Amino acid sequence: MLFTRIDFERPGKQQGFLQVPYSHNLGGWANVMIPCTVVKGGEGPTALVLGGNHGDEYQGQVAAMKLARELTPEMVAGRIILIPSLNFPAAKAATRLSPLDGMNMNRAFPGQPEGPVTSQIAHFLTNTLFPMSDVIIDIHSGGRSMDFVPCSHMHLVPDKPQRERMLKAMLAWGTDFCFLYADIAGSGLLPVEAENQGKTVVTTELGGGEGVPASVHRIAQSGLKNVLIHVGVLKGTETTREGQGKSASVLVQALHRDDYLLAPESGIFEIAFDLGAEVKPGDTVGYIHDLERPDRTPEPIVAKTAGYLVCCRVPCLTNQGDCVAVIAAPMSVDEALQA
Ligand SMILES: [Zn+2]
Repeated sequence: MLFTRIDFERPGKQQGFLQVPYSHNLGGWANVMIPCTVVKGGEGPTALVLGGNHGDEYQGQVAAMKLARELTPEMVAGRIILIPSLNFPAAKAATRLSPLDGMNMNRAFPGQPEGPVTSQIAHFLTNTLFPMSDVIIDIHSGGRSMDFVPCSHMHLVPDKPQRERMLKAMLAWGTDFCFLYADIAGSGLLPVEAENQGKTVVTTELGGGEGVPASVHRIAQSGLKNVLIHVGVLKGTETTREGQGKSASVLVQALHRDDYLLAPESGIFEIAFDLGAEVKPGDTVGYIHDLERPDRTPEPIVAKTAGYLVCCRVPCLTNQGDCVAVIAAPMSVDEALQA
């Protein structure tokens, strides 16, 4: 069972580890040691900041590490708990899933106290860290498989006051697009467990691929701080897009299965639009080329819905059933509050 020497109630700054027993061929009594920083200032809300839920997503890992080094208790109104590389074995292996148990951290919730390593981490969050937190920030990108327009995103949770808190916190990230998404690929997600506990949950998809442009690192780091100020955990003045002379974030939704386009067959995927482009139903957003029969007309990937191309597949070589594109339609904040 996971244990830690960190005292989450102690004022000040602590750097420690979440330790999960992991016995293997060359480590009989070994632990997986997941770095964790806690900074407690005064009385105030608690935010849990998570990077590396998927090991091949670096924007959040860097933003959380930098913030963990920078923070002092004087800067924090309440408490901030930071885990830069949540699926630590996956982060060290540059993989989406844990190399120790093959598990996807973002399908492992609520977790098991004596389960595989990934499941034990999920269980500790579900039963210890989520209950002591008011705000949970889980920073993703598309990893090696997907590329997104850099966006903060969220589920349309049924509880309206919670939904409004989440919308405002999502918008505080300040990204050009903010994205309401649906779960088309399984259950056991970290944000869903946190949402079910009534928390203000903010998640992101800040680009993708293994290379991270400087501009995207900046969005990750500035957005994270601004959300923490917005929710009253970090001291400072909240910045707005308006104050920076930018237009409001474009709120978009992909709440239906038809918004997620899957490859009908394997081959080389060619995207036909740039990320962020507007598409109409019937537009061919990409093609699957048949390696073995280049004389054949490529299979078109046709948009079923209107909106913006917010995500596309990164590796061109594609298997049948891979998600190759996501189309998200504009929605107003009022519509999102009432839907
Ligand atoms: Zn992810």
